[in-house]
Amino acid sequence: MKIIEPTVELIDDIDGAQILRKLERCGKVSRQSKLGDAESFVRSIIKRGHESVLEHVSLTFHIVCDRAIMAELTRHRLASFTVESTRYVKYDDLKVVAPFELTKDNTHLFKDMIHNHERSYAFLIGCGCKPEIARSVLPLCLATELYMTANLREWRHILKLRTDKAAHPQMRVVAGQILDILREKLPVIVEDITP
Ligand SMILES: Cc1cc2nc3c(=O)[nH]c(=O)nc-3n(C[C@H](O)[C@H](O)[C@H](O)COP(=O)(O)OP(=O)(O)OC[C@H]3O[C@@H](n4cnc5c(N)ncnc54)[C@H](O)[C@@H]3O)c2cc1C
Repeated sequence: MKIIEPTVELIDDIDGAQILRKLERCGKVSRQSKLGDAESFVRSIIKRGHESVLEHVSLTFHIVCDRAIMAELTRHRLASFTVESTRYVKYDDLKVVAPFELTKDNTHLFKDMIHNHERSYAFLIGCGCKPEIARSVLPLCLATELYMTANLREWRHILKLRTDKAAHPQMRVVAGQILDILREKLPVIVEDITP
């Protein structure tokens, strides 16, 4: 068993200035206005709620999280997903994301529970079950890998919902990492999003 932390990586090699110029070019067609300060233009369309312009740019993140957070992420219908399949991957050693409230005192209990899942899974595989059948005994905290692509308008929507204090603590960790990356690469797109 391996206990891991959720991680996020932007897999696109992006040039923030170029993206802002693209958005400006697309957005300014409506009034046939001259190109100028792309950053101010993008800031103004966000302020005015003219967010459809942001749909011209999409970004893909590689996310490692548990199955429960994956299920929440995949509720976002305007995003595209490719997810590690528990039907086809056979788990010899379970990789799990620890619950947020895990302390020194209860870590051994948590490990015992995961060992039970490991034993049940190995038992079913030993009985000749395929991984797609044996997966029934895998825990929700099983770590999984996925790629998630969405346009900038949808990322803004997701980040507003998923960094809010109403969101699950581990979802906020994942969304917080995405927000940090966008703050570094495309600050104007997320500067109004404050968890
Ligand atoms: C704190 C929190 C608690 C939650 N609790 C639960 C829960 O208990 N049970 C549960 O089932 N879900 C729950 N959810 C999931 C939630 O209901 C949404 O399914 C999820 O957040 C996706 O959001 P969305 O539908 O706005 O966004 P997306 O699917 O990302 O869509 C983006 C936007 O596109 C528009 N849109 C997309 N599809 C349609 C459509 N078919 N018709 C009209 N407009 C559309 C909407 O404006 C939508 O906001 C929870 C979410 C959060 C953040």
